[in-house]
Amino acid sequence: MKKLFTTLLAFVVGTFPLTSHGEQSADEETYVTIGTGGVTGVYYPLGGSISRLVNRNKDETGIRCSVEATGGSVYNANALKQGELDFGVAQSDIQYEAFLGKGKFEGTGPFTGLRSVFSIHPEPFTIVARKDSGIESFDDLKGKRINIGNAGSGQRAMMEFLMEKKGWTKDDFKVAMGLTSSEQAKALANNDVDAIIFTVGHPNGSIQEATTLVDSVIVPVEGELIDRIVEEYPYYSYANIPGGLYKGNENPIPTFGVRATLVTTADEDDAVVTEVVRAVFENFETFRRLHPAFALLNPNEMVKESLTAPLHPAAKAYYVETGLLETQQ
Ligand code: GLU
Repeated sequence: MKKLFTTLLAFVVGTFPLTSHGEQSADEETYVTIGTGGVTGVYYPLGGSISRLVNRNKDETGIRCSVEATGGSVYNANALKQGELDFGVAQSDIQYEAFLGKGKFEGTGPFTGLRSVFSIHPEPFTIVARKDSGIESFDDLKGKRINIGNAGSGQRAMMEFLMEKKGWTKDDFKVAMGLTSSEQAKALANNDVDAIIFTVGHPNGSIQEATTLVDSVIVPVEGELIDRIVEEYPYYSYANIPGGLYKGNENPIPTFGVRATLVTTADEDDAVVTEVVRAVFENFETFRRLHPAFALLNPNEMVKESLTAPLHPAAKAYYVETGLLETQQ
């Protein structure tokens, strides 16, 4: 859709999509969309922050960026493959599996055209339980009413992975709901479920909403199974949900997690990818201040870590040119 529109516009105004320097000409407009997650997560404001920085230069670049709220990582990876998005945010485990055709993507095969742009904030696997449910550990979820997340979300993929490791099915819960991240805080407060899960950066609106609406606890996710999977899978690591971010949760809570990443496809125009990375890294302090979950971001890590798919060549060229990456391999 986007490409057709650009071509038509280029035809009408009589310009070519690219200037001879490979830069976008400002008398045409290119619309790019970033697929994110639910509006109370971090992906959605992340997409908004990137768009805001890109759109500051739209008069010169002709690139207009917008954000789409989506079902999350798995949805974004699939929509990118279908050509429905230009960029998507995806958990590092989902990026890995989508690129290699593993796990959730075994049936559809490797997405060889997937390209990394950069990685972003850490996303601990987060369980919030009603205090009156008595849930204190992952194993306590058995037999309870749980929101296991909407199909298409990263948390649903992680939950299914953990259930498989445990030998559990949905029947091991009294109720297994498939609500989106933006619906689940209210379900917890209404006592429709005993616990909700979310793989997400902190702090975020969803967990803030849940913990203020109802007396609740953030549940540690640790033990022998977690030790084994952190050891075995390259994209999982130990993580802490910092204390003091949410009502009633003063102490850090141990769990495990992944990292958020921005991905695109090999087909995405160099000029667009260059503008997205330029907008973020040239304005890095502004970007970092746009969300508290970005406070500890380090540009040198973002261009290297948790990226399974190859970097988009335009992103790589920018990182090499600006010294964020040392060598052109
Ligand atoms: N990690 C979640 C997912 O992949 C989304 C988190 C967010 O919305 O910030 O679906």
